[in-house]
Amino acid sequence: MSIKECRCPTCGAVQSWRDECRRCGTDISLLRRLADESRRLQGELLDALSDNDLSKAQCVMERLLAVSTDPLYELLHGFIRHRGGFPAAQSCVATGTFAPVTIKASESNSVSS
Ligand SMILES: [Zn+2]
Repeated sequence: MSIKECRCPTCGAVQSWRDECRRCGTDISLLRRLADESRRLQGELLDALSDNDLSKAQCVMERLLAVSTDPLYELLHGFIRHRGGFPAAQSCVATGTFAPVTIKASESNSVSS
């Protein structure tokens, strides 16, 4: 399964990103929006790391962890914090630096490729 594909949580069908499963019709639009947000945040993270801005990188990581369960992000988050991000008890969301990620059901229904 590539980054351009998803697996339906209901029937397991692998397919390109869409709002509705091609096999069983389950609404998978929220999964697509989470994947879109995750890819966008990955770009922000790379920009922050390129700028050596570890505080910003940590904030982006916290937002990324809110939309992804990839264990690699947990490791990277710990690494960034260790290298000079905020202390563990002082997260970006807790300090109000960034608001938590929210994805509204009414947002765009366009299909990304
Ligand atoms: Zn399905």
